[in-house]
Amino acid sequence: MALTRDSCICLRRVEYSETSQILTLFGREHGLLRLIAKGAHRRTKAGASKFDGGVDLLDLGDAVFSLRLEKDLATLTEWSLRDGHLELRQNLRALYLGQYAAELCSLLIEEHDPHPQLFDRLTQTILDLHTHRQEEVFLAFQLDLFREAGYLPNFAACANCGSEFTDRDPHWSFSAFRSGLVCRNCETIAHDRIPLDAHLISLIATLTRLPRLDDATAARLPRLTRHQTDPLNHVFAEHMQHTLARRLHLPRYVLR
Ligand SMILES: [Zn+2]
Repeated sequence: MALTRDSCICLRRVEYSETSQILTLFGREHGLLRLIAKGAHRRTKAGASKFDGGVDLLDLGDAVFSLRLEKDLATLTEWSLRDGHLELRQNLRALYLGQYAAELCSLLIEEHDPHPQLFDRLTQTILDLHTHRQEEVFLAFQLDLFREAGYLPNFAACANCGSEFTDRDPHWSFSAFRSGLVCRNCETIAHDRIPLDAHLISLIATLTRLPRLDDATAARLPRLTRHQTDPLNHVFAEHMQHTLARRLHLPRYVLR
């Protein structure tokens, strides 16, 4: 059986029987991968486990697996942990943001559709989440992911009448149903509107005009507090839930 190798981040993990796990991994060269890790928790007589005692959410490692396109699940045969993110796991806010990034990736990236740049961005984002820049780092990653997956809402103009956004008018809202901004004149038709601070819209509009939010750009973002990022994370969660027609699990831990 031909074996394949890839650098992977664990996006989802379900314990399966007493000894095995079913994993959703983000492979740098393979996109989303669904695998079974048989015997992940089984220990040898010497006490060692085949997969370092199992794969945890957000773990970064080198995976070896058998990939057969006619099968739903690939089989993980080796896992070498490169980073278990111990510091991240000691910071609850960072951990929830990391898990939310993983949830979004698991829903927006397709199987066997590689996104190496996004993989590198997620790797760096997870490292940066337990710094004081966690809010802007997560926001920048979210925008990058939406753009890469083709789900970036329009922040340049009203989604209903097309009038251009300007922060001279403070009265703007976001509508998940319309996948974008709604101006003062159109707000009565958008029953799901969420008011947004025009300065925050301005920041998002500027960021979305950049060709790509690399790590250096993300590092230059102004410092944002949760008071500022909560409304943005809220509208993006509504936008995703509407687009995917499903409830997301992590927003209840990420939003106040
Ligand atoms: Zn309008």
